[in-house]
Amino acid sequence: MQYGLLGGKLGHSLSPKIHELFFKYTGLTGTYGLLETELEALPERVKGMRSTYAGSNVTIPHKIAVMPLLDSIAPEAQAIGAVNTIKFTQEGAFGFNTDYFGFGRMLEYNDIQITGKVAVVLGSGGAARAVMKYLADKEAAEIYLVTREPKTVDQHFLEIAPKCKVIDYATLENLQGDVIINCTPVGMYPKVEAAPVSAKICANFAAAVDLIYNPAETLFLKQAKDVGRKYVNGLFMLVAQAVAAQEIWQGKTYDSELIVRIMTELERSL
Ligand code: NAP
Repeated sequence: MQYGLLGGKLGHSLSPKIHELFFKYTGLTGTYGLLETELEALPERVKGMRSTYAGSNVTIPHKIAVMPLLDSIAPEAQAIGAVNTIKFTQEGAFGFNTDYFGFGRMLEYNDIQITGKVAVVLGSGGAARAVMKYLADKEAAEIYLVTREPKTVDQHFLEIAPKCKVIDYATLENLQGDVIINCTPVGMYPKVEAAPVSAKICANFAAAVDLIYNPAETLFLKQAKDVGRKYVNGLFMLVAQAVAAQEIWQGKTYDSELIVRIMTELERSL
């Protein structure tokens, strides 16, 4: 079976390695390649894949543009407004968003509760959309979206999580809660000396989650760790969203041990 990653510039993607490890550990046969595609060439590419691919992931900048090219879209992907996984069958091409499932599985695995809790999301980009949808579906008591520009924030967030409050970083200074989630690229390699918020703000939350996985311990997570808070990086989510795509393609479920096994081997190569 043939699988791949559809996107713009894909040189540094870890996806081929993750799926290679998936095939190795499950004993399934499959190939996973990089499909760099210009926006203008996307319709033809998807058309061609319908008869030659069993599935693909989709990344920047095609997560939204690919949606009208598909036959149907799963409810979570529709609500988020982005597709990162396609399943091709004889019946058609179907879109999903496995960042949503990967994020949820990461929280569950690390025993971070959402229902009835106060959650803060930093950054209003693409990754935050899937995170906000999960928090809303799990019925967090309060959801705060922290942005540098509350006035111009994408109004789609209020459809994803109608009860969310959009605030700026100054307002965040006075907030306490259960979990703070970094959905900004601040602190990512090579600018590892930066954090999206101060140590004082990190201390106001019981747990800190960073979607960044390189470095494994961002300054944001170190700030939480130093005051004894729970902290989790984004590597589990990265592998879990890939395994969730495989679950869709293979029509099977895989336990978290497989995710951890892939993650452990991947960590060595980072
Ligand atoms: P993005 O669109 O580039 O940025 C997300 C948001 O971060 C922006 O919309 C912006 O929100 C805020 N931001 C950007 N630069 C900033 C700065 N210098 N200071 C403060 N805020 C800033 O990124 P994304 O695609 O959503 O991804 C966000 C992060 O999550 C990346 O590091 C990505 O690698 C990671 N990620 C990880 C996984 C995983 O599986 N682990 C999956 C997806 C993404 P405002 O304008 O509202 O402030």
